[in-house]
Amino acid sequence: MNILIINCGSSSIKYRLVRAGRFQSLVSGIVENIGTDKARIINEHKGGKRQYRASLPDYESAIQKISELLSDPEAGAIKDKSEIFAVGHRVVHGGEEFKSAVIIDKYVLSRISFYSRLAPLHNPPAVNGIKAAMKIFPDIPQAAVFDTAFHQTMPSEAYVYALPYDYYRRYGIRRYGFHGTSHRYVANTAAARLKKPLTRLKLITCHLGNGCSITAVRNGISVDTSMGFTPLEGLVMGTRCGDLDPALVGYIMEKEKLSIEQISQILNSKSGLLGISGISNDMRDLITAAEEGEERARLAIDIFIYRVKKYIGAYLAVMDGADAVVLTAGIGENFPQMRTRLKRELKNLLQGTPVMTIATNEEKLIAQDTFELVRVAGKR
Ligand code: AMP
Repeated sequence: MNILIINCGSSSIKYRLVRAGRFQSLVSGIVENIGTDKARIINEHKGGKRQYRASLPDYESAIQKISELLSDPEAGAIKDKSEIFAVGHRVVHGGEEFKSAVIIDKYVLSRISFYSRLAPLHNPPAVNGIKAAMKIFPDIPQAAVFDTAFHQTMPSEAYVYALPYDYYRRYGIRRYGFHGTSHRYVANTAAARLKKPLTRLKLITCHLGNGCSITAVRNGISVDTSMGFTPLEGLVMGTRCGDLDPALVGYIMEKEKLSIEQISQILNSKSGLLGISGISNDMRDLITAAEEGEERARLAIDIFIYRVKKYIGAYLAVMDGADAVVLTAGIGENFPQMRTRLKRELKNLLQGTPVMTIATNEEKLIAQDTFELVRVAGKR
């Protein structure tokens, strides 16, 4: 039994076919530049990686192409689409409504579309991808797994902003948090490594990739997380600023004569590691540049680590201690200095608390959730 995982971006679709059970990957790939004349597919299976060019004007043609590749003897792993048990979609925003993964029906689809107002860049492509997948795999059940769902357990003191309360009621302005699937995956894995039930552990999970967030996980549930109404809040990221004085937004707009779109673009795409260093949003480039004596690259790394430390300190306070700190994603998994510095610089605070590195695998959890949901619902 195979599960197809689909993750739609603004002009791309990542996909992976896994076998239920151990959820090992059979085929994976990415369709890029959908709707342009540069559309291409990079597909990987046991025979190796191959690139294809095709005319892919929309998500439907892209998913149709994925479906064909999956059953292509040269590129895929199945005979035909009847070997797909279920399709799992990554969806960024489920508002306050979706507290766990769900099977997609007309109502669910309309609600994911409704939450586009909270995630205008992320939910619309997911909606397009789901609609296309429902057409191409009409008899196969489909599930939505939300980035926000894991954080729905946060208490109101963690998610209500100190703004007029009416904004929360009228516009849903509150902290939602993101990367939930990754935090949940590494929290589960950490508990297995520690040989203790997750329900008896306090964990601080740090997802440090291009986007970065930290979560306080108490007894298996998220009690606070650093991203907020959007993924802009919290840590310093590749190109996002994270926390700053909100008065700065108006001040910079006035000084630089910027529109709302322009300031939003600066805070989301021109800030963070890239903004501080002026060199790159990629931590690898900054490490090299810092070694070559580039002061601002060093400063960007120092500010990045400093912010992580502040949040770890905050979440140690939130949970009154922790059993482990977990580092994951591109930077968390591959930058050993991060771990060494945290251990050294938080020696007294952590008092022997392990700092673990765990490779995240959001797709595995999406596949597991999808498989369980469809099986329990008796849809197959
Ligand atoms: P992700 O979003 O999880 O793919 O992570 C992307 C980030 O991981 C980028 O900033 C990369 O620079 C960073 N990264 C990947 N490999 C390394 C490495 N070996 N050392 C430091 N950072 C890395």
